[in-house]
Amino acid sequence: MGSERGVSGIAKVQHVVIVGGGTAGWMTAAALAHAFRGSPGRRITLIESSEIGTVGVGEATLPTIRAFNASLGIDEVDFIRKTQATFKLGIEFVDWHRKGGRFFHPFAPYGMKVQGASFHHAWLRMRAAGDSTSIAEYSLPSVMAAGLRFAQPAAKPSVPFANFAYAYHFDATLYARYLREYALAIPGVSRSDACVIDVRLRPDDGFIDGLLLDNGEYVSGDLFVDASGFRGILIERALVTGYDDWTHWLPCDRAVAMPSERGESPAPYTRATAREAGWQWRIPLQHREGNGYVYCSRYIDDDEAVASLRGALAGAAMAEPNFLRFTTGRRRKFWSRNCVAIGLASGFIEPLESTSIALIQSAIAKLLAFFPERGFSAIETDEANRVMREEYERIRDFIILHYKATARDDTALWRDCRAMPIPETLERKMALFQRRGHVVAYAEESFEEASWVTMFAGFGLLPEQYDARVERMDIQALARDLASIRVAIREAADMAPLHESFIARHCQAAA
Ligand SMILES: Cc1cc2nc3c(=O)[nH]c(=O)nc-3n(C[C@H](O)[C@H](O)[C@H](O)COP(=O)(O)OP(=O)(O)OC[C@H]3O[C@@H](n4cnc5c(N)ncnc54)[C@H](O)[C@@H]3O)c2cc1C
Repeated sequence: MGSERGVSGIAKVQHVVIVGGGTAGWMTAAALAHAFRGSPGRRITLIESSEIGTVGVGEATLPTIRAFNASLGIDEVDFIRKTQATFKLGIEFVDWHRKGGRFFHPFAPYGMKVQGASFHHAWLRMRAAGDSTSIAEYSLPSVMAAGLRFAQPAAKPSVPFANFAYAYHFDATLYARYLREYALAIPGVSRSDACVIDVRLRPDDGFIDGLLLDNGEYVSGDLFVDASGFRGILIERALVTGYDDWTHWLPCDRAVAMPSERGESPAPYTRATAREAGWQWRIPLQHREGNGYVYCSRYIDDDEAVASLRGALAGAAMAEPNFLRFTTGRRRKFWSRNCVAIGLASGFIEPLESTSIALIQSAIAKLLAFFPERGFSAIETDEANRVMREEYERIRDFIILHYKATARDDTALWRDCRAMPIPETLERKMALFQRRGHVVAYAEESFEEASWVTMFAGFGLLPEQYDARVERMDIQALARDLASIRVAIREAADMAPLHESFIARHCQAAA
């Protein structure tokens, strides 16, 4: 590992240069530094500009973040304390289907298989027989969340419905700082606070040769990671990779974020409330709440958006509004020549399902899996690009569903979204579910069957028919089985402590 050349005699990538010190930059630095431990020749240089700063948002995650932290050997309690984190069992959607309606998206499957068919078919059968029980009652994390309770799942749950996952809400700045300390403690990692003012390309092949900094230094490297945020200074400004614009499907193009004082007991979930021209997030942390309004500038201006957000805060605002502009879409290639774009530099899908940090993780995993030699292999980068592109498209479809499926017609945004054409992949998925409850899984899906079922149920897109295997069951016996699952879930949820007490007992941050 220590030598300049691998067993094949091909020169190894020795120096990785990362531009950007936000969540993407430091997650990448930490993961690469961990992977390179014991490779003495390898170096990582991270360049970040404290003058430019970071985007300052990105505080709700998906359960995959736990695997990322664990892969670095990070202690969960230490991480929670130092990032003011809380636990997240899912997302509560308020006013999405209709005003006044709500549903919960848990990180878990519902119930258990029935006659080999997914649980929702049994639920659909009961529904067809006149039972109005919500599918949420067959989900332990949904019932715990409704009671503001939290418990970690058992390592080996004795019943399928006790098998759930959880994620975190954390302070984005503190998480980047946490990973910075982690990475800088590993030999071979260094940081430079400077601004990249020029990117020089090699004349023969157009690969990046090096970066000129505003302190006069020239930093050359073998592999460059563009974690410079929306600017995409390497992948786009220098390499002109191109961008697929998806605003015709996902029209929101701005956000305003504002932290507020902590409310009562922190909820173990993110709340996403549909508003007149977009939606609002509420993310409970230990020391404050994160809030933001994601909106479409065609339907509301910045002043109205911030006034609307202020009016909906549960506690007093703790900072001035932070306005952000974005174009929803994806870089045509996240890996181009000797540059890999990670984080906002690689694309952006609005944070309705907290997918950006998970996409950072996914990009890092691809970089590690296809880690190049200095010659770079086109077939490998093509494959990494193909998979990443598909992951983005699957997430895009899932988010579009939230807009397309609304029954709201009270404002222009919702009326336009109801009427908009959607990608063929999503159209097919919706049609198949409405036919007989089939959930199609394409390659590279981030969201599993239960997540799609949650959305279809939450938006009332339910079929009259269901899996034939469930049809054959005795309806009385089925009703009894389902009732016993509900009772078991209710009892298990009642045994869980309040989320706030769980944190106080196990992982309270210092005041
Ligand atoms: C409104 C909004 C809400 C979001 N909410 C969520 C969420 O709840 N969950 C989630 O998973 N994701 C969310 N995201 C996405 C999430 O914030 C990002 O994926 C994450 O923060 C990573 O950002 P980044 O590191 O790519 O970019 P940034 O945080 O913008 O960091 C860019 C870095 O590059 C540096 N830089 C830029 N130009 C130069 C230069 N020329 N020279 C030197 N340094 C430079 C900057 O100084 C900075 O350090 C949200 C995004 C937005 C816009």
